[in-house]
Amino acid sequence: MTVPLDLDFFRRFLDRATRVVVAEARHLTDLDAAIGDADHGANLKRGFTSAAEAVAAEPPATPGALLTAVGAHLTNTVGGAAGPLYGTVLRRMGKVLGEDAVVAPETLGRALAAAVASVRRLGDSAPGDKTMVDALQPAADAYAEALEGGEVTTALEAAARAARAGAEATVPMRARRGRASYLGERSVGHQDPGATSSALLVTALFEATDPELCAVAPEGEAAQENAPVSERPAGRVGVVLVSHSKAVAESTAALAKALFGAGDPAPVAPAGGLPDGGVGTSAELVRRAVARVDEGAGAVVLCDMGSAVLTVKELLDAGELGDTRIADAPFVEGAVAAVVTASAGGDLAAVLAATDDARTYRKL
Ligand code: ADP
Ligand code: MG
Repeated sequence: MTVPLDLDFFRRFLDRATRVVVAEARHLTDLDAAIGDADHGANLKRGFTSAAEAVAAEPPATPGALLTAVGAHLTNTVGGAAGPLYGTVLRRMGKVLGEDAVVAPETLGRALAAAVASVRRLGDSAPGDKTMVDALQPAADAYAEALEGGEVTTALEAAARAARAGAEATVPMRARRGRASYLGERSVGHQDPGATSSALLVTALFEATDPELCAVAPEGEAAQENAPVSERPAGRVGVVLVSHSKAVAESTAALAKALFGAGDPAPVAPAGGLPDGGVGTSAELVRRAVARVDEGAGAVVLCDMGSAVLTVKELLDAGELGDTRIADAPFVEGAVAAVVTASAGGDLAAVLAATDDARTYRKL
């Protein structure tokens, strides 16, 4: 028997997706630890839990409104690349579903195709890049194919199977987008965390066709509920922010720590302006800041320009800064990337790679 794609169906999807994401948070974070920054499971757990609470408090009236509301919450609360990407998936689906109280299977197909297109556009990504697109694109394609002459449950089952196969197929791929791309060849041999979570979400959409199955807890839920989702190694990379202005260095440090979110950020020290508070660069303040952030794992320095760069390079040349590297990156974006990656336990190479990405991140 085919279930109607009504508000109850999409509510079951959200509930199932949230429970599965919570149950699998540790696994997703472990996958992200291998080729990213060990936060994917924690990110999604935070986002889905908050979205589920929000729509329970203010229940949307149609399937489209429900998905749109969830998408907006994910963008605001997930943090990391997956936030805006899954945000666009759900918002785009919500838009295609429109005001319909009961969604036609063909409309769901158009929504899935539009959602994948929006991720590809936002992430500038394509199949083969080792991202969530490698699970989402085959899912949308399989759904469309199976729906021709078939019914919606079969089509969703085909989509879920294709998404899981797509996620598994990311293992031998080399990442070309996202943090994993910093690793180059070293990203080969690991399953992409975003493709893995996408497969879970498409599977949840299929499982929503079965109210009895949805009444039972997903596998692993009890064991994971209270498990911490990420553990940080001791001895993190320090970050030093060298600006001509004391205020700029200090506020950028505060911004980077705030964007890292809850938890214990890596050591960050501003070295802005001159010792008397004037505008300029002080070698003495830079030396002290590097010493302050030293936990034995090295330090990365972000500079604004001119004398800030020259002073740091000169100190490095003179061997006065120990195991310290200078990042070739814009000050604010580089600082945020460095603090987030260092806080998650990234080593010196990973922190530098994150700052490198900040340099190449296009805004148009
Ligand atoms: P972050 O990488 O910022 O820590 P998450 O860990 O939450 O964000 O999500 C990582 C996942 O996001 C990756 O495994 C990948 O599937 C997906 N992703 C990252 N960048 C892109 C992109 N440009 N296009 C499509 N998917 C991407
Ligand atoms: Mg991550």
